[in-house]
Amino acid sequence: MSDVRIDDLPVRDELRGKSPYGAPQLDVPVRLNTNENPYPLPEPLVERIAERVREAARNLNRYPDRDAVELRTQLAKYLTDTSGHEVGLANVWAANGSNEVIQQLLQTFGGPGRTAIGFEPSYSMHGLISRGTGTGWISGPRNEDFTIDLVAAEKAIAENRPDVVFITTPNNPTGNAVPPETVLALYEAAQAAKPSMVVVDEAYIEFSHGDSLLPLLEGRPNLVVSRTMSKAFGAAGLRLGYLAAHPAVVDAVQLVRLPYHLSAVTQATALAALEHTDTLLKYVEQLKSERDRLVSELRAAGYAVVESDANFVQFGLFEDSHTAWQKILDRGVLVRDNGIPGWLRVSAGTPQENDAFLDAVRELKKEQS
Ligand code: PMP
Repeated sequence: MSDVRIDDLPVRDELRGKSPYGAPQLDVPVRLNTNENPYPLPEPLVERIAERVREAARNLNRYPDRDAVELRTQLAKYLTDTSGHEVGLANVWAANGSNEVIQQLLQTFGGPGRTAIGFEPSYSMHGLISRGTGTGWISGPRNEDFTIDLVAAEKAIAENRPDVVFITTPNNPTGNAVPPETVLALYEAAQAAKPSMVVVDEAYIEFSHGDSLLPLLEGRPNLVVSRTMSKAFGAAGLRLGYLAAHPAVVDAVQLVRLPYHLSAVTQATALAALEHTDTLLKYVEQLKSERDRLVSELRAAGYAVVESDANFVQFGLFEDSHTAWQKILDRGVLVRDNGIPGWLRVSAGTPQENDAFLDAVRELKKEQS
């Protein structure tokens, strides 16, 4: 059995030789590699989830609310309250993690014979989900400092005329935010070239020094903002992502979503978490100040650091980042090697976890000098 490999099977050509998304899940004392929120949910919220799930369990013989109306209404309220931009039920769609949101968008607006572009390095799943949905992937350029080179990006859009344009802000893995003027210019370029859908991935926006781009949705039906409860809400295990867009976009993704894709348990849990938004967002403030501490302490220790608007920090420069990753791991701290030569990424953890990380990288620096 074990001598049969993926490529021995009649898999689709575009999947041959590819690797699955693979952040290592290693059992080490300090795990700062997947941009999770390090704080477990507070106990009163755990109790509320149990209550809501108990209620939902009584109806598990029935399919869940296919349109997740109550949940989408509460997500819309959260977006309106935090951005000042009016968002309603008809503007919001939810799925199992923003990865599924992205998949549904690509199934709707990408697909065979179509292409999507992202400006790399950026979130690797944009390219992987593109391939998985039969959408051709175009790797657009970035400057050496990881900002988007607007002229080169506009040129790539004009030349390739992609159907979907991804802009991740704050960007993963580099942490920097994209200025709203750049997003607007890329939207205009994408409309002039095709027109195409522009997906602004705001998975980390709650950690940003700047504001959400939700107000840009006004008058731009081909713009989508995608969000997640995995980071700021500290609920990566819940698998709940969502988008805000023109109601026509919400109608369009329903052409591809599986019926009843969001389980009653997921909807109940997400609703309980949204009842505790204020408490959960207090952790965001703590994480932002820990993120800022990581930036300044890494710089003080002699590392190069990319300015961060997220809950993680990209740092370097290493002659061999994989060896550096291993040496940090040998000291009990798991960070992320995204394969960007010279750089590694660390997620902001609790103050104690961050201290352990900073001790490890200070020792590494001494070893190197
Ligand atoms: N977008 C970005 C930029 C991410 O970094 C991630 C997770 N690492 C996601 C989307 C997906 O998050 P989830 O599916 O957990 O909502």
